[in-house]
Amino acid sequence: MDKITSFTINHLELLPGVYVSRKDKADNAVITTFDIRMTRPNFEPVMNTAEVHTIEHLAATFLRNHSLWKERVLYFGPMGCRTGFYLLLSGDYESRDIVPLMKEMFAFIRDYQGEVPGACARDCGNYLDMNLPMANWLADRFLREVLDVIDDSRLIYLQLWMVLQEIPALCQCYRMRVYFCQCTPVFSGQTHDAVADS
Ligand SMILES: [Zn+2]
Repeated sequence: MDKITSFTINHLELLPGVYVSRKDKADNAVITTFDIRMTRPNFEPVMNTAEVHTIEHLAATFLRNHSLWKERVLYFGPMGCRTGFYLLLSGDYESRDIVPLMKEMFAFIRDYQGEVPGACARDCGNYLDMNLPMANWLADRFLREVLDVIDDSRLIYLQLWMVLQEIPALCQCYRMRVYFCQCTPVFSGQTHDAVADS
């Protein structure tokens, strides 16, 4: 069987952040899957199931009531490894597009007090498995340490980010070689070949 895309990400170098995990097409519609990574994989303790469950209930409630985004929300749920969540939106988005939404959502979770929505036997399959104080704490930490100071290193998977970082240097290198060919016609044939080979 083929290795699925999310298993090809190097989890040893993955920092907490907001990433585009994949884009799929269903008929003509694009679906963007986001990787909302809240703890650093294989580096710090994962979240316990009770706080993951609480975040799931609060985030799903928040997203499905959001005046701007509710129509585009397809799914929000935890990763099996308990280091983060997946959010699926209908539409073609980049991770930066949802940073304001994530800030709003995690501020809602940080500040939430009272009864967790849907936490009763009729509405949930394991309603006693909840930890609101830890959900508040994790949301606060994610806001302070990630969302409030976010940059490309936590918005684009590292492998892709490193390639993008190299592009200006590669362009500069190519321009210098072309300039060298134009200024030194004696070597131009040889150098042009070198450029063409590279
Ligand atoms: Zn539940």
